[in-house]
Amino acid sequence: MSDPAHPVPVSLDVRAYREPLPDADAYLALWQLIEPHLLRVDPREHRSLRLDLGDRGALTLQLLDPVGNPDAFSSATEFAVRGILETARVRYTCGPCVTAGTRTYGPFQCHVCNEETRKEGGTRLCDRHVILLEGAFRTVCPDHAPACPACGRPGEFWCDGARCRNRQAWCSAHQVPHPGDARTSYCRHCFDDRFPTCVAPRCGQTGYLRCEYVRAAGESCPHRVCAVHAGRWQIYGPHKRGLALCPTHLTGLRRMSREDTVFQIVAATALRRRSRAIGPALLPRLSVVRHILIHVRDEALDMGVIDALFTRLRATLDGTGGGAAMATLLDAHARVRQQDLTVFRGDREVGRRHYETLLRMLIADGRGQLAERLSFSDFRPKANTLYVRVPPDVAGLFIGRGGSGIRDLGARLGVTLKVEKR
Ligand SMILES: [Zn+2]
Ligand SMILES: [Zn+2]
Ligand SMILES: [Zn+2]
Ligand SMILES: [Zn+2]
Ligand SMILES: [Zn+2]
Ligand SMILES: [Zn+2]
Repeated sequence: MSDPAHPVPVSLDVRAYREPLPDADAYLALWQLIEPHLLRVDPREHRSLRLDLGDRGALTLQLLDPVGNPDAFSSATEFAVRGILETARVRYTCGPCVTAGTRTYGPFQCHVCNEETRKEGGTRLCDRHVILLEGAFRTVCPDHAPACPACGRPGEFWCDGARCRNRQAWCSAHQVPHPGDARTSYCRHCFDDRFPTCVAPRCGQTGYLRCEYVRAAGESCPHRVCAVHAGRWQIYGPHKRGLALCPTHLTGLRRMSREDTVFQIVAATALRRRSRAIGPALLPRLSVVRHILIHVRDEALDMGVIDALFTRLRATLDGTGGGAAMATLLDAHARVRQQDLTVFRGDREVGRRHYETLLRMLIADGRGQLAERLSFSDFRPKANTLYVRVPPDVAGLFIGRGGSGIRDLGARLGVTLKVEKR
């Protein structure tokens, strides 16, 4: 008789059983199917017992202790399943293999499938079905095998360039290697972006610098220049990194109107700010802008006139294109300009007084006709210099032999007196 304290130990091999056995309940149901068959088995049987279940496959049972078993099994006999042999469960199965009717471990993933389903758990891939190209560890499934956009042939490498960002593959015929790194390559477009040729004729060097001239709000000149052929337009003062310009736009500076000049200063600075390019990205102060205009246009303008150029530009801007960024810059600049104007007007007042004294001196000297031809230009308090406009036909008269006349007048005024050349 069976001893309930010592159930009959058996092992069960379900590897040839075709029905799914997802949980304990499924095993219990299976056991209820097996038990009636077991009762007909010789308890001393030491060979394994195969149970053919037709379409459902087969099961194999093994009595683990034939010698210790009771003489006969009955419905009262208790069995204990000591071990179950089941097929290794494949958690990540290769998608294409499943389609072909097999189950294989898929350690790789299809990045495109993942991106499409927006989570991991797109398509898993075995090492036979995975597609691995040069350049980046971006594995894809056969359905997503990339084709070269230039010729349609199978892609062989992922382009590391800024346009493709390792997501576009190209064939080897359309591959341009990195000049210094054999493991990296680009498509032609990305290569030209990264290593553009200098726009200067017959230069051939890499144009690492972008021309910062702005063609329309928010869009700069497409030219690239090498350090030798780039011009620097020092709009932020002499010691700060000015705007890089291609040869065309450097020579074009002298043809710009006042309005163009101010537009370039603001638009290029806004673009620098947006692209986080190296260098300052704050609008220059009015005194610096005055110097820019002297250099570019050879004209020394009144600060109020320069301020008005900025104010008028601001009025033309709406929120479209690069206009919004320019408007923001200009609004912040307006306050600084106001401070500059106040200081400038104070200085100008001092300069005006020096100028009036100069005229009185000339009249007292009996040179009233010369005095009538002069006009005030500028006063620089730091240099204590008064600039006076003098028509060319009387300049000699005013300056005197070897500069003695102008030096003498200056000494009497207590300033350095200079003729405005612009
Ligand atoms: Zn596979
Ligand atoms: Zn895929
Ligand atoms: Zn590319
Ligand atoms: Zn190609
Ligand atoms: Zn060059
Ligand atoms: Zn340019």
